[in-house]
This record gives sequence, C-alpha cells and structure tokens, in this order.
Amino acid sequence: MRMRLKDIAVMLVACTVAVPAWAGDFKVHRYVAEKWNTNSYWLESDSGIVVIDAQLFRSDAKLMATMIKSTGKPVAGAFITHAHGDHFGGLNALFEELGSFPVITTQKTADGFKPTHESYLTYGFGDDFDKKLVEADRIVEDGAKLNLAGIDLMVDEIGAGESENSILIYQPDRKILFTGDATMHSAHFYLGEGFSEGALAQHRHIQKTYGDAKLLYPGHGDPATPRSVLASEIEYITFQQSLVKEALNMPGNMKEDGTGLKDDAVKKIVAAILARYPHLGDYDIGAETFLGWNVSGLVRELKTAD
Ligand SMILES: [Zn+2]
Repeated sequence: MRMRLKDIAVMLVACTVAVPAWAGDFKVHRYVAEKWNTNSYWLESDSGIVVIDAQLFRSDAKLMATMIKSTGKPVAGAFITHAHGDHFGGLNALFEELGSFPVITTQKTADGFKPTHESYLTYGFGDDFDKKLVEADRIVEDGAKLNLAGIDLMVDEIGAGESENSILIYQPDRKILFTGDATMHSAHFYLGEGFSEGALAQHRHIQKTYGDAKLLYPGHGDPATPRSVLASEIEYITFQQSLVKEALNMPGNMKEDGTGLKDDAVKKIVAAILARYPHLGDYDIGAETFLGWNVSGLVRELKTAD
C-alpha cells in the first residue's frame, strides 16, 4: 500500500495533538487537620490552583499554604462550602502565605461568616484562631458555572442541613462532588443546628442528582462513593429523629422549663446511638458531648414540628 503525502501529514498532526495533557486535567489534593479532621481540598491544573474550604486554625492553613506554594502556581480562588469556622477560619493565614485571591460562595453562605466568626472567638482557641475575618468577595448564584484555572465547576446551593446554608461544588468532567459538611464519612453527623429534615432532603438531593458521581469529597472523613455513604447516613439521621420523637412523646421527659429533655432521657438516647454506631469518629470532642448537641438540636426542631 502506497501512502500518500496527505495521509502522512494527517498522521503527524494527530500525533502532535495527542501529546499534551488534556487542557481540563487536574489533580485533587487534600489537607486533613488533626483537630476535628476538617478537610480542605485544592485542585491543581497546569495553570493554577482552586481551593475548596480553608480550615479552622492558622497553623493548619499555613501548612496547607506551604504545600500549595510548592506547586509554584497561583490560586485562582477559594470556594467556601458553608459558614462554619472550621471551613473559613484559615483564610487570612492563606492570604498571608499566598497573597489574596477571590473568596467564592453564595450570599446566604457569606452572610453567616461574621456571626460565626464572632462566636468562634469566644471558644477559647487562642491565637491559632484568626481574629481577622476574611469575608467572601465573589458572590455567586445557585447554579453558577465557573471556570477557574481551566477547571469547570458548578455551584449547587442546598440550603440548611448540617449548617444554616450550604453549597456543593460539582466538577462535571470527572463527575466528582465536593460536599462540604452536607456529607461526612465515618464520623458522627452534626445535627446540632436543628435542621435534620433539611439534612435528609440534602442527602436525597445528592442521591438523585449526583448518584452517578465517581466520588463525594466530604468536609470530614475520607472521599467515598455515593452508594457507600448516602443510604447509611439517611438511616443514621432517621434513627436519631425516631429516638428523640419517642422521648418527646413520653410524659415527664421534658425539663420543667421546657428547654430540653432531662439529662437521663438524653443519656438514654446517646447510649442507644453509640450502641448502634460504635465505630463513628467524634472529632476528638467526645461522642457523648457531640451527640448531646445533636439531641438538643433535634429536640428544638422536633418539639415545635407538628
Ligand atoms: Zn466542618
């Protein structure tokens, strides 16, 4: 077979095009804090870095910044998934090391930064919790599609659940979802803010909309598939709701002032949760304390619900 000059030219072009890495390619890195096991992620493309969540403490943010700095690439922006201090408290320390960059979230999430920062200042974390608050300065809408450092990312605002408001960040080429604390893996899920119904709705939304995602990257715990996490978490939340509902229906369980369940009733619920889920992490807060907060949140939510 005789090859024509034109065929050879086409082959050469095809070879040259195939050599460079795909323009939208990127690596996912994770920094895990020792305290509360809070995850931050940074996506690294050829041209830059995109951060997702910014840690609680200055010391963790500085370590993470050192790792980002070693790439020699600029930070195109940082998404904050929700207004809990363990996800945005380290922004100022990141700025100090890396220079400033846009802080991206929705308006409702951004509204929570200031009050949360004020309350965290009272938690006794000392100098490691930054007194300087960095506010979000790039407000995006629910459904926003952004391209940062050559990486396509979609914002999905999912309302109240583990926190008062939360966003998901989806990367459609890889089919991966950064959930913030809307999902947590191998650790007790926080229901202390009184939005267990919202948390259930969020889990069902993720199941329905991102059920085919390759991986969920949570705010705490290891990345995992939707199938390995969502159904069991729904069962976990529903179980706690049923225990609290049962206790609320039992006469004499409430404190005289109506502010919550009596200590004995709380202890009984916490013991039942621990017996069923003995393996879950407690963020080094102590499972009894942590689950006590969950029971308070559930009581607040369910005693007023019809
Ligand atoms: Zn968190």
